[in-house]
Amino acid sequence: MPDIPTVTLPSGISVPALGLGTWKMGESPNDANAEIESLRRGLDLGMTLIDTAEMYGEGASEELTGKAIDGRRDEVFLVSKVYPWNASRPGVIEACEASLERLQTDRLDLYLLHWRGEHPLEETVAGFEALRRDGKIGAWGVSNFDTADMEELMAVPDGRNCATNQVLYNLSRRGIEYDLLPWCQEHEIPVMAYSPIEQGRILRNAELIRIAKAYQATPAQVALAFLLERDKVIAIPKSSTASRVEENAVAVDLDISDEDWEALDAAFPPPERKQPLEML
Ligand code: NDP
Repeated sequence: MPDIPTVTLPSGISVPALGLGTWKMGESPNDANAEIESLRRGLDLGMTLIDTAEMYGEGASEELTGKAIDGRRDEVFLVSKVYPWNASRPGVIEACEASLERLQTDRLDLYLLHWRGEHPLEETVAGFEALRRDGKIGAWGVSNFDTADMEELMAVPDGRNCATNQVLYNLSRRGIEYDLLPWCQEHEIPVMAYSPIEQGRILRNAELIRIAKAYQATPAQVALAFLLERDKVIAIPKSSTASRVEENAVAVDLDISDEDWEALDAAFPPPERKQPLEML
């Protein structure tokens, strides 16, 4: 079984650096069994962080996730997200309760603001803190926040309790390396890298394929190894196929040479100036 590395959250809790995404899951009844099997396979392999959101399939992903973790809740570090338009102080509490109901659980380990919206950050944070005091969430964080958003968050009451920032980050989307990633690392706020294999689009890159072959690995494994190499980064690939989840888990064993990291830098150049945060 692969030895999945961990990342420590500000609370001191360790979570796997390789977790499981769930976007698009739960949307088709015909796929449900395979999706549940793939999530459970991930748990068996130690990829015990599961990321979902009220947005995904308008609750269908949370329902599917609830079925997948039935009887295994204590193994899982469960992450969900609130829509920005639900992120008023009372709205956050109501949305969280609806997520808990769909997930068939009494608590989330981490609850994220999906992206910034119309509600003032202090209100959202006050709602998150109330949920935390009530034991309905273990911690809270944000998603799709750029550096300036993080600075603003730090200035609101309790804003420094933010436990993560989930953003688009993969070989072909390296903009955050210029400022947001170092900022988060300095503030000890882990970055959760979403779409870590660019939803499959980077897997056809010739250089990635060449390097993967040299290690008898797959392009997806190299793309994940790139993220696992970084400090305070958690990758959450999604796959509805158990064999691909197994393939992704083995990425933790890849040991890429300096020369090949340089070749990957040439194929996917790091940023030389500030780039606005990209979103999918
Ligand atoms: P990913 O980069 O994880 O790619 C998922 C796609 O890649 C699926 O089509 C999957 O197909 C395929 N795939 C997975 N593993 C392999 C493999 N080893 N070989 C070939 N293909 C593979 O994209 P996502 O956008 O799903 O991102 C991951 C998670 O991040 C989401 O599921 C969600 O939880 C979160 N997210 C958060 C966002 C936010 O705004 N906070 C935005 C986007 C995503 P298949 O399932 O058929 O195997």
